[in-house]
Amino acid sequence: MSNKLIYNGTVLTMNAANPIFKPGYVYVEHDVIKEVGEWKTDGSMDHLLAKSSYSYNAAGKVVIPGIINGHTHLFQTFMRGVSDHSPLAQWLKEIIWPMSLAMEPEDFYLAALIGCIENLKSGATYMMDHHYIHTYPENDASVLRAMVDSGIRGHLARGGSDLAGEIRLRETEEMIFDSTDRLLDEWDGAASGRIRIALGPLNLYGCSRGYLEKAALFSQERKLISHVHVAETSEQIDTTMARYGLRNLELLNEVGLLGERTQVVHGVWLDDGELELIKAKQASVIHCPVSNMYLASGVARVPEMLKMGINVALGTDGPGSNNCQDNLEVLKFTACLHKVNELDATLLPPMDVLRMATVNGAKAVGRSADLGSLEPGKKADIVTVDMLKAHISPVHRASSSLVYNANGNDVDLVMVGGQVVVEHGRSTWIDEQEVLQRAQARVDILRGKLAVQYPIFAIIE
Ligand SMILES: [Zn+2]
Repeated sequence: MSNKLIYNGTVLTMNAANPIFKPGYVYVEHDVIKEVGEWKTDGSMDHLLAKSSYSYNAAGKVVIPGIINGHTHLFQTFMRGVSDHSPLAQWLKEIIWPMSLAMEPEDFYLAALIGCIENLKSGATYMMDHHYIHTYPENDASVLRAMVDSGIRGHLARGGSDLAGEIRLRETEEMIFDSTDRLLDEWDGAASGRIRIALGPLNLYGCSRGYLEKAALFSQERKLISHVHVAETSEQIDTTMARYGLRNLELLNEVGLLGERTQVVHGVWLDDGELELIKAKQASVIHCPVSNMYLASGVARVPEMLKMGINVALGTDGPGSNNCQDNLEVLKFTACLHKVNELDATLLPPMDVLRMATVNGAKAVGRSADLGSLEPGKKADIVTVDMLKAHISPVHRASSSLVYNANGNDVDLVMVGGQVVVEHGRSTWIDEQEVLQRAQARVDILRGKLAVQYPIFAIIE
């Protein structure tokens, strides 16, 4: 029997009653949490130590449920930091699309693998990857192989766009749905259930109404999550208003794509009626504060959404607009952005932010029953964060230290389904240095090719 014990740490369970055990322990059998509670040092718990094949003394560390990164595009690790001063439309045309078109299937694997490692090492055990580049038929599989090899859990939302601004990235409805069905056959439930497939129409302006309507039926028939960029910038609202006289979210609702399995990504430019629609349809919003700030897209009405009872989860967004995948950094940005935006320091206390990253994330991916908190019966997706650091210690409230002090480099242990995939802050499944060197060599070649046509790739500073 594969039993594991994490003991002697501060355990933030994030369960409904929200108990904190200090010191506490989490005891795991196979891939499931069996016990969570207070750790006693009087010898009465030595039997747990004795029957564990792996034990981890979490003294000085906080133990949390794995973070759920609700939105990313892993392939974009290859274009992070090419330019840090472009608005969304220009950023797509001059950086994202050219690099996407130049990348080969093995590049998608390498790029995604770096992203998976970074997600794990910054505390995410679950990730929703919105993959919409299908220049080669094997691109999706390249990303999925990276997810399997790294040890992370997650969804690949099969992106699709029949009206993409870059013609070479357009696909027909038939291509999108056929390939999604193939992915469902070949990958849904792979790696002992770690891998799932979702539907990811790219956005409301790059998809025709006909395609969106069929996507609604497709996801209803197969009970899939629908993951869609909605109202990221104000210009996107103008596009659907001009075409259909509807705002982004109104169109999503009209075509039948708004429901409890829908993830509204960004949702920055939503009016009162649209917020009511999200609430009525019990959809989730995936808030990506770093990306919204980086691309100067705007500020989503997150405190209002939470007050209304809308489920708001968090995401890093792709490394092209973040530029990292540091899931702990997102917590601080979330709190700070909304405090300054509303000039109200009382907004978003640390526990609320942590809840968004864990419990709300699990709800958004339909996994409230087995993910998002440390409770007996749930999957053993567990993270420890080292608090004995000069930029964190001394600690008054672990929740505050996690949100405002810690960053991804402080993550020490990551367990996914009871398997240790990061230990002492290093991936145990992947030779990280080898992957990073290979990726840099490939990116240097791609930069050389792209610089001929796109001067932005030639800039060295
Ligand atoms: Zn995105």
